[in-house]
Amino acid sequence: MIIRPKVRGFVCVTAHPFGCAAHVKRQIAAAEAAGPIKDGPKSVLVVGSSTGYGLASRIAATFGCGADSLGIFFERPPENGRLATAGWYNSAAFSEAARQAGRKALNLNGDAFSDEIKARAVELIKAELGKIDLIVYSLASPRRNHPKTGQTHRSVLKCIGQSYTTKSLDTDKNLVTEVTIGDATPTEIEDTIAVMGGEDWEWWIDALEEGGVLADGATTVAYSYIGPEVTWPVYRHGTIGRAKEDLEAAARRLDARLKSTYGRAFVSINKALVTQASSAIPVVPLYISLLYKVMKAKGLHEGCIEQMVRLFKTQMYGGSALDFDDGGRVRLDDLEMRPDVQAEVADLWLRANNDTLRELADLDGYHADFLTLFGFGLDGIDYEADVDVESALVDL
Ligand code: NAD
Repeated sequence: MIIRPKVRGFVCVTAHPFGCAAHVKRQIAAAEAAGPIKDGPKSVLVVGSSTGYGLASRIAATFGCGADSLGIFFERPPENGRLATAGWYNSAAFSEAARQAGRKALNLNGDAFSDEIKARAVELIKAELGKIDLIVYSLASPRRNHPKTGQTHRSVLKCIGQSYTTKSLDTDKNLVTEVTIGDATPTEIEDTIAVMGGEDWEWWIDALEEGGVLADGATTVAYSYIGPEVTWPVYRHGTIGRAKEDLEAAARRLDARLKSTYGRAFVSINKALVTQASSAIPVVPLYISLLYKVMKAKGLHEGCIEQMVRLFKTQMYGGSALDFDDGGRVRLDDLEMRPDVQAEVADLWLRANNDTLRELADLDGYHADFLTLFGFGLDGIDYEADVDVESALVDL
């Protein structure tokens, strides 16, 4: 099969196995180039490990710190000649590289919200890893089947208390459009908190503790975003922001619990980057393409792997201490939020229209990053070559 990108709105429904592998290798090379991280974790659980920040965390832990890992994700495997999702190919390529480097790489493909996957993870950890000393919680999901009530919660990206009309980017046509983001109902707010809030993170820690596989002194981290005011009505002050407040409250509870064994829990606020999750959020693609323009010009741009290496090396491990903001969060968005960067992005935001967009925004960078998520546009890959999808990266 010749595999070409088939983009449908904010997703690409095809993925190239060897391109995904090249993307993983590129991130491994970046982690290795940053040098070894001392005093790092030995056994890591990454919930949401197949793409974006979770994959980069797993790579930083394995190739920066020499850790063994268990990754949890929800991806479609290759079946009956059908392509797998990018996260499957990423995980297969990561696992092969980690094992070649002498590290254990275990995987569970299934619903992280379920009791069953948590129980299977505990058994696998007991059998293969002993105890876990770092848990990265990096899920981004549109829905959650609640294991206690059986109810399906769907997260929505809406404003709270108002609707909001603003600029956005039509990524298919490269046009500045106007979008109106609706006002969420109380149920939609609750549903979004149920999916993207902190309850499931706490349940993961409960399961590990009850299973006797949580190491004394363990660290756990989850990721969030704050961003500039133009994104606040839909992000920080919207339904997703409410869920992230719940996540931060969970971090405080978990931190108090883990302190008794000298462990810690916290939220890291990461930079806005093109991932499968962020491309679905209105307003964010336009903001990211303007932000990339400014940060690249200033030599400040980082991708997921650079962010995660920085988190591991200068915050969590490497002899450093966590540097918290007033809200008890680590700020990996410090460069994004630098006043000079934000002043320039705010100016570009005002000036961005269909006449100026190509000049003001890093549209090429946005699209290249988006396609890279699915294994397209990588150097050294022959995209005209026939790929045997029955054999390419089928095993985890
Ligand atoms: P992503 O879409 O790249 O990754 C999501 C991961 O969750 C994948 O591994 C996917 O398989 C997994 N997943 C989803 N539903 C699952 C389920 N039911 N069971 C098991 N696994 C499941 O997303 P991302 O952008 O890397 O987001 C990860 C975290 O980082 C989120 O909390 C997000 O809010 C946060 N964050 C993202 C950005 C950004 O700009 N992308 C910025 C700051 C913080």
